[in-house]
This record gives sequence, C-alpha cells and structure tokens, in this order.
Amino acid sequence: MDSETLLQLDRQHVWHPYSAIGADLPVFPVASAKGVRLRLSDGRELIDGMSSWWSAIHGYNHPELNRAVQDQLSSMSHVMFGGLTHQPAVELAQRLVELTPEPLQCVFFADSGSVAVEVAMKMAIQYWHARGKPSKQRFLTIRNGYHGDTFGAMSVCDPVNGMHGLFRDALVQQFFVDAPSRPFGEPCDDTDMAPMAERLAKDHQQIAAVILEPVVQGAGGMRFYSADYLRHLRQLCDRYGVLLIFDEIATGFGRSGRLFACEHAGVSPDILCLGKALTGGYMTLAATLATQDVAATISSGEPGLFMHGPTFMANPLACATALASIQLLLNSPWQARVEAIESGMRSGLEACRGLPSVADVRVLGAIGVVELTAPVEMRSVQPAFVERGVWLRPFGRLVYLMPPYIIEAADLQYLTEAVVDVVQQLQENGRGNLQIT
Ligand SMILES: *Cc1c(COP(=O)(O)O)cnc(C)c1O
Repeated sequence: MDSETLLQLDRQHVWHPYSAIGADLPVFPVASAKGVRLRLSDGRELIDGMSSWWSAIHGYNHPELNRAVQDQLSSMSHVMFGGLTHQPAVELAQRLVELTPEPLQCVFFADSGSVAVEVAMKMAIQYWHARGKPSKQRFLTIRNGYHGDTFGAMSVCDPVNGMHGLFRDALVQQFFVDAPSRPFGEPCDDTDMAPMAERLAKDHQQIAAVILEPVVQGAGGMRFYSADYLRHLRQLCDRYGVLLIFDEIATGFGRSGRLFACEHAGVSPDILCLGKALTGGYMTLAATLATQDVAATISSGEPGLFMHGPTFMANPLACATALASIQLLLNSPWQARVEAIESGMRSGLEACRGLPSVADVRVLGAIGVVELTAPVEMRSVQPAFVERGVWLRPFGRLVYLMPPYIIEAADLQYLTEAVVDVVQQLQENGRGNLQIT
C-alpha cells in the first residue's frame, strides 16, 4: 500500500488516541524503528523523544527483547490464566515483588494501565467490604492527576483538565484536593497537608483509598512535587484507616531517577500500579501489586475471591518480554544514563526559559518539560518537529521529552535544540493558541 492510500484509509476508518475521524491533522506513517530512531515510510528518520509514551525505555527493536519474544513464541503465545499457570507469569511476579517495596507481595496482571487502576480501586473496595466497612467505596485524590481512560480511572483524573469533563454525570463523584504546591526537593509541613488532612478527617468513613501518582504527575500536567508529601500522606492514611494506592504506571522502571518514584520518599503504598515501561514498550501489560494484608483480607471476606479476571491475563508473550526488559534494565547502567539525560536536558532546555511563550522549564530524571503560556496548535507544531527530524508530541501547554534511556548525548542535544528552536518560533494566533508562523 502506498503512503497516500494508507493515509487516506487511516483518515476514513481509524481512530488514533484522542482524535477525530476525517480530521486533517497530520499523522505520519512509520515503516520501522530501531534504537532511538523512527523511520518514516518516506525514508526520513526521526530521533525519538517520547519513548512511545514512557514505555520504550531501551529504544526500539532491541535484539534481547526480540529474542525473548521469539523464544516464548516457540513454546506458547497465550493460554488462559484461569486454572492454568506458567513460568513467565510466576517469574515476573516474583521479580516484581523483589523489586518493589517489601510489603507488596501479591501481583495481579492486567492488560493495560487503565485496567490496572480499575483493579486497584476494586481491591480497595473489596478490602473494606471484607473488613465490615462497605460504606468505604469512594476515593480521594489530588488535582492534576491522570490515571487512565476507563470509567473508574476517569473518575479520579483531574475533573477540569483531565480530558473527561464531558462524562461528569456518568462518573462516580470522587473527592479531590489541590495537588501539593511544594516542588520536588522541598519538605512539607502541616499547612501543606491541611487540605488532605481535613478531607480525610471529614470523609474517611466513605473513603476506601487515596490514589495518586507519587512525585511526578504525568498526563495531568507534568508536575513534580515534594516527596515529603507522601511521607505525611502515609501517616494520614494510617491514622484514618484509608488505603494508599500509588499509580506508578508512568514513573515505574527508573524514569524519575529511582527505580520507582515512591523510593524518593521511602514510602510504601498498600497497592501499586505498574504498566507502560513494564515490557520495554513491546506490548501491553500492566500489574497491580498489593500487600499481603490487602490480599489476605480480600480472600477472607465475601465472596472470598478477588472479582476480576481478564481474558488475556498474564499473557505469556508479554510476561516473558517484561522479564527480559527488567533484566536488561538492571544489567544496564540505567541510573547513570538517566542522570546524563537529566543534566543534558537541564542545560539543553535552559535556553527556553525567559522566552515569551514559556511559563516554566523543569526537569526530573529522564523527564523534561517546557510549559508554555498557552496550548499549542498541533496542526503547525507537530510538522515543525518532524521537519527538524525529531519525534515529540506536545500536549496542551506542554512540550515534554522522555527519551529512551539509551539515547546518546549528541542525539539528546539534537532533541533539546529542536525544542528550543520550535518554541522560539511560537506565536499567539489570536485564537488563544500558540502556533508556528
Ligand atoms: C498512561 C497512564 C495510565 C493509563 O495507562 P493505559 O495503558 O494507557 O491504560 C494510568 N496512569 C498513569 C499515571 C499513566 O501515565
């Protein structure tokens, strides 16, 4: 199929994330990808600054991950997980239990991040049901969060900028407090905790769990906040008898500079969600980990089972790939790589600070953010990045980078220069957006 036909059929029949059928917004056909480079079907090569949304941490087409897929394929690609088990799932569960904070002992494999969040929320409700507190069915979270696109997950996304306002009346009304304003690296005091403390004091009898993204809020605003907040929050949750769920679907596997972002705080949740980088970007797989207490309590209650079980639960191909990806990560100097990316982005993006269209520049681990004063108009901005040979996908007022950990210094510099170059050319277009003129 030639590219023109492909694009025409794509426009007519295929939905992309948050897209419209028939829209003439640009999409770019990719023919292949290797390392940090995406090759478009017209032969152009783009340096990848997105890791395909936090996931392709080792880059694309990695020989060791390819081998893991092929090896697993030759024995079985899938079997149902009801009543059957297999080595890739058990080994991966064991690995995840080993790597995550010690109290997390029991693993539920889900098929996407959103489902992992649904599972976490259902676990929390079942936990309290088993403890004789069936009134605890609601959730408390902080604004600017993002937890996925399914109904339970949507209900705890930021109600205003969380992309789901349209569904408000179809969603369970959850409790929201302002996100911590203390930046990463600063301590928190009682004043910082007051909104959370007051809400818990007032409504803890209805609240099953607090759910949030530790330290780094991703798609809801790319904000980095004080790790100390999580230490205080853990105490508050314990005081009021509320479970704590950390959504590390974006931050897991080293992105924030620690293997898991909760390590910045030295705090362990009752339930932890993982996804995105779990398979190194090869296929969809997520996991929800729970403490022994949560698991045992659920099992001791009515009906004595955890009520969830996806068709493709613990898909062996995905589990085998995840094992290989984790091994590859742990065998690599990933911390040094993330630090090198962090300092490369700090110096490379500094030139954006002070530009008329820039509100803030911030970097943590392998995450770089240029926050603009207004949303970008994708129609002109996306092609501008592609013309410069980089793959970056801004979102609202955010131009952000999260390159694969294997990126070389020269490629990283090329990426940050492209950002500076494009951001420099942004101008208000009179419709409240920034565009390239
Ligand atoms: C991406 C993301 C999700 C949703 O994961 P999907 O695999 O897209 O369903 C949930 N929580 C966080 C923090 C995420 O970044």
